[in-house]
Amino acid sequence: MKPIVLDRTRLGQYATCPRQAYLAMIWEALKAKANGLETFPWEKERIINVDPKLIEAMKAVIHQSTDSLLRECGTEIHDLLKQAFDECKNNLNLIPEWFVDNLPKIKPNIQPMAIRHARHAADLLSEYHVNILAVEHQVSLVIHPETATTPAVIVTMRYDLIGSGKGNLHVMDWKTGFKRLTNQEAAESFQAEFGAWLLFQQEPYKEINLLHWWYFETMWGTKAYARFDRLEEHPRLPGLTTEVAIQGRVLSAVDLFLKNCKDAWPLPYSCSWCEMIRFCPNADMSAKEIADDPKAYVDRLVVVTEWLKRQKAAATAWIKGKGPLAGTKVAYTRKVPQAKFSAGFEDLQKPKGPAKTGDDSIDGHFK
Ligand code: SF4
Repeated sequence: MKPIVLDRTRLGQYATCPRQAYLAMIWEALKAKANGLETFPWEKERIINVDPKLIEAMKAVIHQSTDSLLRECGTEIHDLLKQAFDECKNNLNLIPEWFVDNLPKIKPNIQPMAIRHARHAADLLSEYHVNILAVEHQVSLVIHPETATTPAVIVTMRYDLIGSGKGNLHVMDWKTGFKRLTNQEAAESFQAEFGAWLLFQQEPYKEINLLHWWYFETMWGTKAYARFDRLEEHPRLPGLTTEVAIQGRVLSAVDLFLKNCKDAWPLPYSCSWCEMIRFCPNADMSAKEIADDPKAYVDRLVVVTEWLKRQKAAATAWIKGKGPLAGTKVAYTRKVPQAKFSAGFEDLQKPKGPAKTGDDSIDGHFK
């Protein structure tokens, strides 16, 4: 039987919102069909009973490209970096020179943006002193072996760059979008957690207990970093090691796939980034409003922003003369200490001091 292969994008969708994964699966199957490409047996099975109205809505736009210029540029940068590593035989010292020779050949419509990314990529690589083990490397793991009635389930991921330090691994992933991640976001991202866990499961790395994960953000020349200690306690799941905690997250995503879960977990952040939002009736309302009619949303935003400015100006004038305005849980009041008069919300349920211990992390909890 042909195995079911789940890549990290699909697993990440299940971990974020199963409805997104479900809609993306239908979209990809229809798109593959429309382009005369292969659809997998499990995809065929799952799209048989889909609501015909949804199929119709997707088919109506199936030939529309979802690729923006930014995404096109991102793909181009990834390809360019791969080519640079190939032709320089993974010698990081040769890559900046390679860019100088090859950037002029890139498509003119994305050339200015590509030059910016390439310059940052070269700077980031110049500080990257590890022994390179693999570039653009696919790593897989069998989660469920094949049985008499079910195909094997394999999880897989492609790594941009894997390097080795002293008794540890360094993974680097190119990020070409506008978003800049904090280290906290890097540590919590499904990609980084899954990527670390998957490498920990590989035979050659069984003895490695520490993995450093780097996002190199080529738009800005910045980095986001996460550290994964296989045997240390997971920072958000006390009592579990990092490896066991991440394994739970991965296996529950696989499980959601196997159950063909379609639950919607709308959140403003995930819905705003969701490419299936136009087919989803459960989306976060604000994100949905933007997706449905971006022009009307911005026009309304202008009005609401102006209205809000006036409301705040009136409230600030009021508290200058008459003192704080108390709501149910917060007060609108003067911010202290501030040389200039400025106002903002203050939590009325904050514990009252005095609690001047000299430790900011403790004193910050008190007024
Ligand atoms: S729009 Fe939101 S709720 Fe709907 S599929 Fe996407 S992430 Fe899930």
